[in-house]
Amino acid sequence: MSRTLLSKFLFIRLPRTCNLKSMYATFNNRKAVNENVPKLLNQHVPHVNPFESEIEQFIKTNHSLTGINQFQENIISKYKSKLLTKESFDAIFMRMCLACRNYQLGKQFLHHIHQTGRQANTATLAKFLSLCYFCSAEVEDKSEIKKLCLSITDSWQDGLKLLEEDEAAQFSSSMNAAVNCLLKHNHFDSAMLWMDKMIAKERPIFDFVYEHWLRKCAENHNCWETFSDFLVRNGVFLKQPIVQKLKEVLQNRSRDPFIGQFTAIDEDSGRCQSCQKVLQNTDITDEEFAALRNRITEKVLLGTDVFLGSKPEEMQRFEELLKTTGPYDIVIDGLNVAYHMSIKSRKQPSAKVDALMSVVKHFKNQKLRVLVLTRKHLLTGVPLQRMKQEAHVFVTENLSRDDPFLLCAAVQSKHTKFVSDDLFRDHLFRLADFRLQAIFRLWQLKFHYPRPYHTVSQFADGCWHIPYDDGTPRYSYESPTTWLCLQPKSQA
Ligand SMILES: [Zn+2]
Repeated sequence: MSRTLLSKFLFIRLPRTCNLKSMYATFNNRKAVNENVPKLLNQHVPHVNPFESEIEQFIKTNHSLTGINQFQENIISKYKSKLLTKESFDAIFMRMCLACRNYQLGKQFLHHIHQTGRQANTATLAKFLSLCYFCSAEVEDKSEIKKLCLSITDSWQDGLKLLEEDEAAQFSSSMNAAVNCLLKHNHFDSAMLWMDKMIAKERPIFDFVYEHWLRKCAENHNCWETFSDFLVRNGVFLKQPIVQKLKEVLQNRSRDPFIGQFTAIDEDSGRCQSCQKVLQNTDITDEEFAALRNRITEKVLLGTDVFLGSKPEEMQRFEELLKTTGPYDIVIDGLNVAYHMSIKSRKQPSAKVDALMSVVKHFKNQKLRVLVLTRKHLLTGVPLQRMKQEAHVFVTENLSRDDPFLLCAAVQSKHTKFVSDDLFRDHLFRLADFRLQAIFRLWQLKFHYPRPYHTVSQFADGCWHIPYDDGTPRYSYESPTTWLCLQPKSQA
């Protein structure tokens, strides 16, 4: 088995020379495509694909869509790219209208799609809504887009209610627009709730929203309290231009200003190279872990969540297994591991099972107690029997959600490691307790990224230490190595 592939799951730190197909998707800070550009000053964002430049040129030089059909045909046959097809063209064209902030052409293009008897797909529509949002001054008929483009309508609260009720409409663009609108009207707590929800749903929070927060923080002292709580609670890493603004806001405010320095933390000692203070330790006490375990069991497993797709008998079977064979050293997310480890030969049905088996054997050889959670369609008959000789196995029905089971098995012991690239953000959100959420994150990080100090934003002895994303590629379980150190000006 490839050591590189395995390391992704075992969280062993290896030199970053791996070339995984899925690696791109695991980067937290993967290169943003242009549509999200909040147009920070006059920042230029290069195009990821060459055909984008050509589409941009078309948008910049044409005031109408005459010739769009010919243009579409030509550009698709010219680049012969899997990324640019008849199906994807609409969304790409709209994305480029958005990048150029060309509302008029975007609107014409949406009409053009409808005129040709087609329906705009979700991606295209979402881009158009973002375009409306950014070009709100040009939008004449606001009722048409009232549902989603909240902040450009007068009755934004109705729009927000609609968005709350209609989960299907909760795109990144509409959710970001909602938060921006709430900030505009100084509803900080509601804005924060929406941002927590976005984190849980793994929707990106756009930089213009962070910028808006920081503008509010400059005006309102309490706003910083709310915003900094969010950074600590969600372990969010801001990008460099945003953290630069944050530094300016806290340095320039009249009440309790700070002095900021960009710095690094010594990995072995946890000492800040700027202020020489040692960052907080990451130990979780037994009491804290017990509280986390009880809450997860109560909320995730005994709550209603798990029954969404599970039968009560399945639950009983699982509880019985935990009682008789737990706790485990290793809990494996079978489907997740089988899928990622068999990338090269995914088409062969047996490849996934073999890949999973090799991971199980790896742990078994170390004499560890292993639980494999999997679904029926992956393991039946002989493969299931083979697996049962190596590990404890719990097979869920194909329709069941297996992540609550996985989570519950993993928290049975503080020392259990779980093998999955699922970060359980959704469940974290459901814990609905900030203290437990912080413990949960700490517990995850301990295995994924062991450090003698806490690797998220933290406040101690009157000082802030805030890690930020300087654009260096890293895996999703890694933390950035660049930090902002903020000391109270009064102590300088
Ligand atoms: Zn420091």
